[in-house]
Amino acid sequence: MQLGFMMATKLTQFSTESLFETLKHIKIGGTTCLYTKERCAELAPIINEINQLKAEKNAVILAHSYVSPDIIHGVADHVGDSYELAKRAKESAADTIVFTAVKFMAETAKILNPDKRVLMPSQFNGCSLADSITGEQVATLRAIHPDHTFVCYINTTADVKANCDVCVTSSNVYKIIEEIPNDKIYFVPDRLMAKNVIRHLEERGIKKDIKYSDGTCYVHETYDADMIHYLKTQYDELEVVSHPECPEDVIAASDYVGSTSQMIKHVVDTDKKRYFLLTECGLSSRLQLEHPKKEFVGSCTMCKYMKSNSLIGIRDTLKSPQPHDIVNVPEDTAKKALDCINAMFSYVG
Ligand code: SF4
Repeated sequence: MQLGFMMATKLTQFSTESLFETLKHIKIGGTTCLYTKERCAELAPIINEINQLKAEKNAVILAHSYVSPDIIHGVADHVGDSYELAKRAKESAADTIVFTAVKFMAETAKILNPDKRVLMPSQFNGCSLADSITGEQVATLRAIHPDHTFVCYINTTADVKANCDVCVTSSNVYKIIEEIPNDKIYFVPDRLMAKNVIRHLEERGIKKDIKYSDGTCYVHETYDADMIHYLKTQYDELEVVSHPECPEDVIAASDYVGSTSQMIKHVVDTDKKRYFLLTECGLSSRLQLEHPKKEFVGSCTMCKYMKSNSLIGIRDTLKSPQPHDIVNVPEDTAKKALDCINAMFSYVG
């Protein structure tokens, strides 16, 4: 897996002009990700204040690829998907981790780093997948299906992980479910990902009884194969790259399917004329900026949870964290959830 990148050459102090030069090419995502000089004049002082506060407080900012480009390119120390950021959090020597993403990811960072202070600046930090099932509901399902191995996607709360046997990410879900030495699997919470796993196993001639709960990512479920077919009529040599949280017909019509980090690697490693990324807008914005010679087309969908992270929220959290900014996971829940996460590492190293 490709690791999330560190913004090694990033400026820590910006003028309006240098910020505008950094962000002016971003166009994907409509007005939320359009950076005018006037907008950059508002943002640059906040970015500079955050970078100063970071140094004073020995803090590190971890950002998911789906948050706003001003966070990614202005203040983030590391950018990646949930798994990469959890690993970065574990490696960090900082006293404080500011996690700009959604709550289940910050919880995972806290579970892996119980001695570090983890702060979460967004209060609107849900996730349609993580919120679709509770730990109590998983415990009820376990009582009904005692002979099944319970597998949870990393997009789950700590409480759900604490009630499951093995955690998976979008980059290792196929491999781990294939290797689990039990033909009876209960997968939570992503119905679409479960169907894609079933299809993948069937293609490989592997039979497993896979039950699943009914959650979806509200961003990825909006895509359909008609959109792909339409864009293919408009653009020649269009490489369609999808995330496994997308519906089955999208997966079948795609040229490549992979986790966020695998999608990035595919774009970087291939030399296609154009790319259509079926995932949250932030990934296209990020890749457009980092690879200006590659062309990205098509519509994208914003995640309201990820985009609720803001520079002002980060600054205020760093300056004076409120009790609701501090991420805590009860000790017993954290211990069981860690067993579930470590079970994943036993499969993938
Ligand atoms: S993009 Fe989907 S899975 Fe990711 S945080 Fe948003 S709702 Fe959750």
